Order: sequence, then structure tokens, then C-alpha cells
Amino acid sequence: MTNDRMPVLFLGHGSPMNAVDGNRWSRAFRTIGESLPQPNAMLVISAHWWTEGSFLTGGEKPRTIHDFHGFPRELYEIQYPAPGSPDLADRVQAILSEASDRSSAVSDDWGLDHGSWSVLRHLLPQADVPVVQLSLDGRLSSKQHFEMARALHQLRGEGVLVLGSGNVTHNLRDALTRSSAEDPTTPEWAKQFDAEIAYAIRERDTGHLVAAWPDGEHARQAHPHPDHWFPLLYAYAASDDADSVSFPVEGFDLGSLSMRAVRWG
Ligand code: ZN
Repeated sequence: MTNDRMPVLFLGHGSPMNAVDGNRWSRAFRTIGESLPQPNAMLVISAHWWTEGSFLTGGEKPRTIHDFHGFPRELYEIQYPAPGSPDLADRVQAILSEASDRSSAVSDDWGLDHGSWSVLRHLLPQADVPVVQLSLDGRLSSKQHFEMARALHQLRGEGVLVLGSGNVTHNLRDALTRSSAEDPTTPEWAKQFDAEIAYAIRERDTGHLVAAWPDGEHARQAHPHPDHWFPLLYAYAASDDADSVSFPVEGFDLGSLSMRAVRWG
């Protein structure tokens, strides 16, 4: 067991194919993984678990969920057999209820969705670190998400690595249109939104980050739906002024999909 203070990560997971393709993004996930201290456990906030209320995966053996359609069979055959951690699920539940008047619940209905495993299989290929997912409560505002997530900061001193998995820009319709037109150009709105977020992260401009969706410039183009945006707020909320900040990978996939990753600490 380690009590080292863990870094915090945000990863742009992009296409589920990054789970199996050897490309710039998956290689970056591997390199990031090799640079990490060994965590006791992972807490993952994935874009792909959107719920009414806050839930935590509580099972000893979370199942691998193939939550996508129309991809090659090899993707559906992937298993990421990391153990769960009922202890961590209980701990996070206690932290969240202490920090706010919102209660969360442990659920056995979910496991690890592709927002988690498509990056974890590169980050931690041995699948030997326990993983718990925390859902995104779709009823909360950006500010409420951020305030709730700040309580997760203390987990870092307990050897828990907090990972937000989304994308800094995520307009799937735009990305798929560009992909089918074989048009890899990155539109100005995506460049600007991504650059402004990167700047705000470096400057620790919490006000900018919390207001970026839905009211920021280009917010609705960058995120027609905020599911891929909020995981960044969670990761940022678990960081602090003492952390160094780096972007281990950046750039766009499918034209407009920002693949920027952020590491704090
Ligand atoms: Zn996604």
C-alpha cells in the first residue's frame, strides 16, 4: 500500500478503436502509464456513465461493458478484468456525503464502460489495480459538479489515482461528418475552445473552467452535450496550486475531436 500523493489525470479517450489501434493516442496512453507511480486504486469519472443521481460501481469484479455499436468484433471481445474495490466505493460515498448534502449510492448495475477500459488497457495493461467508477449526475450544473468533485482531492493522499475520461471538445456529429468526407481539417471553434481551456488549466482559472459550459464561447459547438466535458472538471477539481501541469499529448482526431490529455502532479 502506498500513501504517496497521486497525480491526477484527464485523458481524451476519443474513438473506441483507440483501445485496439496502435496509434499516436494509444501510444501516448502507454507512455503516460509507464510514467505513473503505482496507485492503490483508480477512481474513474467516465463520460459514458450518465445518470440521475450519483452512483459508484461497488462490485468485486466489475464487468467490461461494450457500450458502442457498429464496431469490429475484436472490440467486443476485449475484457479488462481489473478488480473492483467495494472499500473505495464506500470511502468515496462517505467523502461525497460529508462534503455536500448530496448522497450517492453504490450500484452493481454498472461495470467499466469504454470510457474507462479503452484507456486503462494502455495505462495499466496488467489490469491489476482495482478500479471504481463514479457516475455523472445529469441533474447537476457545472458549478455543482465542480463543488462536489473538490472533495475527491483528499483521495490522492490515500494512493488513489483520479482519472477523468472525456474529451476537451466532443461534437460527434461534426467529427463523423469530417471523417466520412475524409476532411481532417480542424475548425476554428475547436481550436479556440481547446486552446482557451488549456490556457485556463495552466493559469488555474477556475472561474473560466466552471463557466466554459454552457455559457462559454463555442461551448455548444464543442459540446452539444456535456458528458465528455464534465470529467475534465472532476480531474481539475482534484488538483491544486501545488501541482505541476503538463499536457502529455494534444492534437485533434477526426478533425474536431480534441485528444488533449492533462496531468497534474
Ligand atoms: Zn466517449
